[in-house]
Amino acid sequence: MKIGNNFLKIGDMVWVPECIEYKICACFFCLNGSNRVGLVTHVDSESTFTAWFDIGKWDFSREDIGRDGIFGVEIISEGW
Ligand SMILES: [Zn+2]
Repeated sequence: MKIGNNFLKIGDMVWVPECIEYKICACFFCLNGSNRVGLVTHVDSESTFTAWFDIGKWDFSREDIGRDGIFGVEIISEGW
């Protein structure tokens, strides 16, 4: 598993860790019971990404990648 600030590209798989800081969480992922695994489908610039999860689309920024705490997006698989 790769964790860090690697540059994302279309086709990469990302994982959003569980929200362990809150027992009851109403975020996009918890509320919808997502498996938290997404596929990167759009790269706007070096700082804005779109990924599709089992529950729908979610946008995030480069600052969210590998960051500690809630929504610290991790890269689990690199696309071609
Ligand atoms: Zn949550």
